[in-house]
Parts: sequence; structure tokens; C-alpha cells
Amino acid sequence: MVPKLIIGMEGVLNNKIFKLIGEVADTLGLETYVIGGFVRDIFLNRQSKDIDIVCVGSGIALATAVKHKLGKHARLSVFKNFGTAQVKLNDLEVEFVGARRESYDRNSRKPVVEDGTLKDDQERRDFTINALAMSLNAATFGALLDPFGGVEHINQQLIITPLDPDITFSDDPLRMLRAIRFATQLGFRIDEETFEAIVRNANRMEIVSFERVADEMNKIVASPKPSVGFILLYKSGLLNIVFPEFCQLKGVEVVDGRAHKDNFYHTLQVLDNLAAMSDNLWLRWAAILHDIGKPQTKRYEPAIGWTFRNHNFIGARMVPQIFRRMKLPLNEKMKYVQKIVDLHMRPIVLAEEVVTDSAVRRLLWEAGDDIDDLMTLCEADITSKNEKKVQSYLNNFKLVRQKLLEIEEKDRVRNFQPPVSGEEIMETFNLKPCREVGDIKNMIKEAILDGVIANNYDEARALMMDVAAKMGLVAKDS
Ligand code: ATP
Repeated sequence: MVPKLIIGMEGVLNNKIFKLIGEVADTLGLETYVIGGFVRDIFLNRQSKDIDIVCVGSGIALATAVKHKLGKHARLSVFKNFGTAQVKLNDLEVEFVGARRESYDRNSRKPVVEDGTLKDDQERRDFTINALAMSLNAATFGALLDPFGGVEHINQQLIITPLDPDITFSDDPLRMLRAIRFATQLGFRIDEETFEAIVRNANRMEIVSFERVADEMNKIVASPKPSVGFILLYKSGLLNIVFPEFCQLKGVEVVDGRAHKDNFYHTLQVLDNLAAMSDNLWLRWAAILHDIGKPQTKRYEPAIGWTFRNHNFIGARMVPQIFRRMKLPLNEKMKYVQKIVDLHMRPIVLAEEVVTDSAVRRLLWEAGDDIDDLMTLCEADITSKNEKKVQSYLNNFKLVRQKLLEIEEKDRVRNFQPPVSGEEIMETFNLKPCREVGDIKNMIKEAILDGVIANNYDEARALMMDVAAKMGLVAKDS
């Protein structure tokens, strides 16, 4: 392959590390390149943090020599089984690998890997835009090797495989999801034949581990306009494999001439609205899941029309199973999503009815520090095409936000703990931990939220004495 020398291109490799790697590679007599996402991102004018280096020979030997040259500040990790190594220097992470050729057996997920040329290595890349390499050896430093027209495809904003797409996707089906991820993230379109091959190979996605799927899904969700990805996932048939619950939202039913909205498109609109307001990945997941309980709760009631009673509650209950299957985190992030899904109807109720202080206090207490995120989702949830309606809903939410601020200022219930602790209850009535302690604490909390007593120690203590007396409890020192 004749390297394409682009005048001035060597300037983009301005990080000193590239010259150093090139020098070390020259002493070892190894043809060496920076390859993949880093080179693509140069042409996209994007900052790329990961540097991938490929050499024709041993990547581990090159990494070891580079670490030696960098001295004691650099760290070397070797992954012998994979034939790869990583050198870390401060914030910089550089991955090294020898150029390889891969051959796949249709019945196995694991390729047979052999040493190969740079061209072999570029052919096993997923898309032409990811197959670009730039030479680091002194004699050809900065020369671009672009055997499949990747730069042209970047200019055309096109995702296309370097080989026959049926081969690329059958070899590693995750690449189908990656095609959709890059299209969504970069705003590119997927070449028609490439997309048709995704449709043909969609079922192969079943052999991919959900850990790898989750990574790509999160990148789609974090994109500027995530609906693009979901629609492509749907059209390709992949959505039904990676996220069948979401497919269930699709469709409109009509009874007695009355239709409900298509919750699939509604949800995507909410997601795009939210994406314009917030970068919070987990709030975006809450938007994706906010109506996920609707298909299960859908009823047609002749007197009212379509109802989705308790869909928020059913939806919140579905969150753990969806997160578990999709290998999304099962920690406080999941709990946060669950909480937002559960509460997403509450501000709407507050906006529609005459708001009592007690209803506002309850919402503040239940949402805690996530109250602002909940309000943001509710605002994103307005998808009416009638501009007047949108304005009036937004104004209502403005009032709810104002009311939330006022009540919080006054009552401080956002993260409140009842002013009388369980220990104090046990101490006062000489109790071991038991149900009564929980009951008394709960009654104090409820009384504060209902506005029966104020949120202060004296009133809470007085209520404790009162309630305990009614339960037949006697204070230790009375
Ligand atoms: P990001 O923008 O998220 O960093 P990226 O593709 O640049 O995306 P990686 O996913 O780390 O980052 O991949 C680095 C490179 O490795 C890609 O540019 C591509 O050349 C190659 N690659 C990664 N995954 C695959 C795959 N499944 N099949 C073929 N090539 C792949």
C-alpha cells in the first residue's frame, strides 16, 4: 500500500508521544501507526482521549520499549492473553497491539487471530471511518493510510463497512449496534447496503454479551438526538432483541373512534426534549422508561376513553428487571431512575389541581434532592403540538416550581429526618428496637408532611409523648 502523504498532516500529531513512539519503533525496525478513533477524530475536529497504536510485529515489545524510554513516570500493563499492552503517562493512555488478521468460524464467537499486515488489520475494523491509520516512523511520519476511502466517507458523513457488510456484521454482530451508535453520535447516515445487511443479520445480535450492548446503548442515549438511534434500532429489528419492552410502546389502538397516542414516538420526543435540557445519562434513561408501564396498564373504559392507571408504579417495578438484563448498574443509579419513573405523574397532578401545601411537602420529601430533575422530566414530557397548550402547561409547572421553593424555604422537608430519632424513642420508653418505635417515628413524619405539626423538635417530642400514651407506653422517668 502506498501511503498517502498529506502535506501538513504531520502537524496534527503534535503530541510529543507520537515522535517518541516513532523513534522507538524505528530502533526496533517496526512499521508503526496510530489507528482508529484517534485518527477519525482528527478529521472530525474532535478531541480524542484514547490513542491506539498498531505495529507490524509485537505490540507488547514496542510498548515495553516505549515505557523504558519514558522512564519511571510511565506505567506499563501487559495483557499477554490478548497480545496487547498499555502505557499510561499522567492522563494519557496509549494502547499497543500487533497488526492482526482475524478469521471467523460462523459457529464460534471467538476469531482465530494471526499476525498480519497493516492492511489485514484495517480490514477487520468495523467502518471505513475507523480504519484510518497514520504512520509514526520517521521516514513517513504523518502519512495517512486510508485504503477504503474513510476520509471521503467522513466528508460525506457516511457509515459504511470496509468489506462486504454481511461479512463484517456476521464476524462481530456488535458492529451493527456500533453503526447505529456512530450514526446517532455523529449525525451520519448509514450506507444503504450496510443498513440492509444489518436488517439481514439482526438476529445474530443474540450472541453478543449484554455488557458490550450496554456500552453502545449508553452512547446512543448520551447523543445529542438519541431518537435517531432508537428509530434506526427499531427499523433494523435490533430493538426487539436488545430492548423488547421499548418495542411494546409502539402502535396506536382505536376503539369507538378514539385513539391513544403512540407511546413509542411520544417517549422519543420526550427523550429528545430532555436531551436538549440535560446531559444527565440517568435522567435520560428515566425519560426512556417513564411510560414503560403503559402497555401493561392500558384499558379502554367507554365512559372515559383510554386509561393507563398506575403505569408509573408498574413502570418503576419494571426498572430493575430491565436494568438487570441490559447489564446497566443495579446501584443508586437504578434507584434514581426508578424513583423518577415512579414520581413522574405527581407534578402533573400538582399542576392540574389546587395545590395544597401538604401535597407539595410530600412530593418534596419523596423526591428529595432529585426534585429538580423530576421537574425537568415533567417539562420534557409536554409533547403537545398545540403551542398554546404547551405554554399553559409550562406556566403551570413554573407555578409548581415556585410553590416547591416556597414550601422548602418554609418547612425544610427536602431531606428531612423526623426531629425525634428512633434512639430517642427507645431511650424515653425503655424499648428495644421494635415495631412501636417505627410506628411512632412514622406518625411524626406523617404529621409533619400533613402540616398537623411544624417541623421542629418541640412539637415532634410533644406528639411522641401523646401517641405513646395512647399506645399504653410509659416514659422511663415518669
Ligand atoms: P469512541 O468514540 O467511543 O472512543 P471508538 O470506536 O473510537 O469510539 P473504541 O470503541 O475504543 O473507540 O474503538 C477503537 C477502534 O477499534 C475503532 O475506531 C475501530 O477501529 C476498532 N474497533 C472497536 N470495536 C470494534 C469492533 N467491534 N469491530 C471492529 N473494529 C472495532
